Amino acid sequence: MAESAAPDIVRQHLIDPEICIRCNTCEESCPIDAITHDERNYIVIPGKCDNCNACIAPCPTGAIDSWRRVPRAQMYTADEQLAWDSLPAEREGAAPGGDADLPPEVERIVAAASAGQGGDSPPPWSAAHPYINLYTTARPAEATVSGNLRLTGDGATSDIRHIVLDFGTIAFPVLEGQTIGVLPPGADEHGRPHHPRLYSVASPREGERPRYNNVALTVKRVTEDHDGRPVRGVASNFLCDLAKGDKVRVIGPFGTSFLMPNHPGANLLMVCTGTGSAPMRAMTERRRRRIALAEGGRLMLFFGARSPEELPYFGPLQKLPAEFIDINFAFSRVSGEPKRYVQDRIRERAADVAAFIADPDTYVYVCGLKGMEQGVAQAFADAMRETGGEWEALLPELRKQGRYHLETY
Ligand code: NAP
Repeated sequence: MAESAAPDIVRQHLIDPEICIRCNTCEESCPIDAITHDERNYIVIPGKCDNCNACIAPCPTGAIDSWRRVPRAQMYTADEQLAWDSLPAEREGAAPGGDADLPPEVERIVAAASAGQGGDSPPPWSAAHPYINLYTTARPAEATVSGNLRLTGDGATSDIRHIVLDFGTIAFPVLEGQTIGVLPPGADEHGRPHHPRLYSVASPREGERPRYNNVALTVKRVTEDHDGRPVRGVASNFLCDLAKGDKVRVIGPFGTSFLMPNHPGANLLMVCTGTGSAPMRAMTERRRRRIALAEGGRLMLFFGARSPEELPYFGPLQKLPAEFIDINFAFSRVSGEPKRYVQDRIRERAADVAAFIADPDTYVYVCGLKGMEQGVAQAFADAMRETGGEWEALLPELRKQGRYHLETY
């Protein structure tokens, strides 16, 4: 019968290894564990993915939005995908009609997700247009180090650095809240090039030094893993050891959601821990440079670190006028003092926080350790409840309006 002879073509969901920055977001967002990884690649397990697309929008790079039409019997296996350095070309004859063959409902979901890469919340309505994926692992931009300054105090256990990269004549437009990928030189134990690592831009859009086409990063030297075992972070040690004049290969920029509002009168509520302060520093600096314009809008910051010595940008932050930014530090390891997290400080300021969030011109940003996500949401919920508000009802609205943004690792 002619019909049964037609090949059974499927649209196989894949991850582009050239763009993927191995941030684990897709694996975390897959509700049926259809995404896995080894030390090299992230892949979609063939035959397991049910095309729910929950992973598409959160991906900061769009690498997850990769598809190939293949005969069902010839789907790319997990082993094949784990060995890839780049996606295979579309097989000849496997793509009759291209994506126009998709059910309209799937078409719609994929198109909407691609448009919203970088988060499941839209950006603030007044955010500037972000550029993404201008440079890839196959075609990275080369930047020159123009500064590498230790931010942590002499007594600090961590080495956190403010690293400035100059792009010279290369166009590398970034916005506050976007990230860039760094390609460490050399190869891993399998002889394959190291995969990129993602860092938030810590400088405002017009440059660390205005009109100098440079960006700053906040990088902590990784010397131990999450369980305290000694490890040497490949990219962080490479970056922290850089000297002025050294070259760095950079990809990106990435991110279309965690962006700041541009309209006069917009308020920023920023909550961060450790190096999660990078985007907050970028946004604060953008607003600081515009103080003279008297555009209105307030800034409120909750910033957690082990101690003042471990807190990046502690000195400069304290010099900002109180009428410009309302700063609340939370130190967790100061001898003789109780352990304090950002969520404790949010609860102490419950009335102010609740009133601030209720203002339709307030945009909330949370960045730092994965563990704080839940605790901070709970603190917001407690603050709202104390003042008669209902966080559970408000949160979906905030997200829909691009007013609540999370970036945690
Ligand atoms: P850290 O020094 O390990 O921790 C900072 C503070 O957060 C400490 O006071 C810590 O307290 C506290 N903390 C721990 N668990 C918490 C929780 N559940 N809720 C609230 N506070 C908590 O931080 P870090 O090493 O700098 O890590 C910052 C995170 O930001 C990393 O995950 C990093 O990947 C991420 N990030 C970095 C960048 C960048 O561009 N570099 C950008 C975005 C995000 P104790 O440890 O004393 O308990």
